[in-house]
Amino acid sequence: MTTALIAPPPGSPSRYLTGLAPTPRNVISAVRAFTHIDQTGWAGRGGYPGSDVLWDVTCMIDGWQGLRFYSHLRRNKPLMRHPGCAPLDQHARALAALAAYTTGVCTCRTTHPTTVRDVMAAFDAIDRIRRLGPPDALDRALGRLLDPCPAGTVRAQAVADFASLSH
Ligand SMILES: [Zn+2]
Ligand SMILES: [Zn+2]
Repeated sequence: MTTALIAPPPGSPSRYLTGLAPTPRNVISAVRAFTHIDQTGWAGRGGYPGSDVLWDVTCMIDGWQGLRFYSHLRRNKPLMRHPGCAPLDQHARALAALAAYTTGVCTCRTTHPTTVRDVMAAFDAIDRIRRLGPPDALDRALGRLLDPCPAGTVRAQAVADFASLSH
């Protein structure tokens, strides 16, 4: 007996969520968190684990990798981001350079949803895969909402609008 596809076991680590089920509420929190840390020059290495759990992140100013609480990153605390980071007076310029690639339009090869209608379709796809599988399609569906995208801010606004409609 052979299986063509080896699906990850249920509850296995995801690139987008760590220890959190892919419910709409958790995905909405993750979109907010990934977008917020992107704006302050951080990137998630592991999935979003929740606000007060250590998150595996990269400092985009100099590539440092380590664990930080989102509840601190959200408030841009501490100002000295980690031991050995670039001097404080260089941060604003580095963050401006990182922000320079952002646009209002997704130009990615695999497009990301930037309207409420498309965001709704993305959440429907996640819900369908959760119920019907295949499990290995779940990360791809989450990626449409959580992968880096030059239009990430517009996408996050569409997700926030979707959240306010559905709650
Ligand atoms: Zn740094
Ligand atoms: Zn995109």
